[in-house]
Amino acid sequence: MAKLRASNSLLRGVEPYDPKYLPAQVGLNANETTFDVPAEVRRDVEEAIARVAFNRYPDPMANELRDAIAQWHGVTRDCVVCGNGGDELLFNLALAWGGEGNALLNVPPTFSVYAANARLTGTQTIDIPRRADFSIDEEAVIERASRGDVGMVVITSPNNPTGDLASLAFIERLLQATDALVLVDEAYMEFAPQGSSAAPLLASYDNLAILHTFSKAYRLAGARMGYLLASPAIVGELTKVRQPYSVDAVSQAIALQVVRHRDAFNEGIALVVAERQRLSEALAALPGITAYPSAANFLLVRFEQDAAEVWQRLYEQGVLVRDFSGNLLTSGCLRISVGTPEENDRLIAALQSILA
Ligand code: PMP
Repeated sequence: MAKLRASNSLLRGVEPYDPKYLPAQVGLNANETTFDVPAEVRRDVEEAIARVAFNRYPDPMANELRDAIAQWHGVTRDCVVCGNGGDELLFNLALAWGGEGNALLNVPPTFSVYAANARLTGTQTIDIPRRADFSIDEEAVIERASRGDVGMVVITSPNNPTGDLASLAFIERLLQATDALVLVDEAYMEFAPQGSSAAPLLASYDNLAILHTFSKAYRLAGARMGYLLASPAIVGELTKVRQPYSVDAVSQAIALQVVRHRDAFNEGIALVVAERQRLSEALAALPGITAYPSAANFLLVRFEQDAAEVWQRLYEQGVLVRDFSGNLLTSGCLRISVGTPEENDRLIAALQSILA
């Protein structure tokens, strides 16, 4: 007879994260950049991979990459920690600043992984929902964070899936009001106007951590590399919980080339920003649609028509977007990543035929 002891009671009722991984001709569902790294970068990446010693363990802290990232952002090595995608760092933060007695202060609708990690680590989640226009209830967040029982506050800027930026004045007031770790998730910051990042606050606040990823603007979603900029105190705690070899040698080599060639990505970022503007204007001209303003590489769109049905009909036409209509806070909404001009044209044409 087969026997299996029950797993950790924290897993009871947990649904595995489902990124809705489906094949499609036009994949605008995962907020990737939909085109490859520039050819000259790809060449240097491939040469770097050829030099990797597959038989040896990687440098656990990825120090060469860490130094390059530190230099880029004007900080020292001890203020940088790399992870297997931003996702791994989010999990490590939940381990280090979560657990019993440490609540997560969350501002939904936002990236679902924060609350999922809290649940897995036995951390209570306190929600301060955004207003109907998705703006943050700043006073409520600051008041709740200052009560002394919160381990970590996450502010996502630009926010996923709503696309809006958090104000720096608010983030600074929050940092002053609490000793909780304030994580500003800037996974999409490269697509936002200059001056929107919380990075200048790093020098003044030990409780600030900023998450970045190579998955979006730097087109490496497949290679899995993210990093955190934070005080040495935060980095020190994370090195206690992180898996020593989670950042593999191949990904380290790839990301190092991308950091060295980072200026080569600016043209692609500018194209996405220009296409975001064109797409939002084209969507606004369609009947029964509200496209929310976005500083990221995607748009959240609310439909008067049944959004799940719009999703299905888009998929039947080869265009995959992300359905957020099942969540109360984003009812009627689909999230559409900005693609190449051709992909965006296909999306617009498909929506025109569906909404006609
Ligand atoms: N933060 C946000 C807000 C995201 O949307 C994502 C990716 N969906 C991540 C972090 C993590 O990205 P990755 O693990 O690919 O670095």
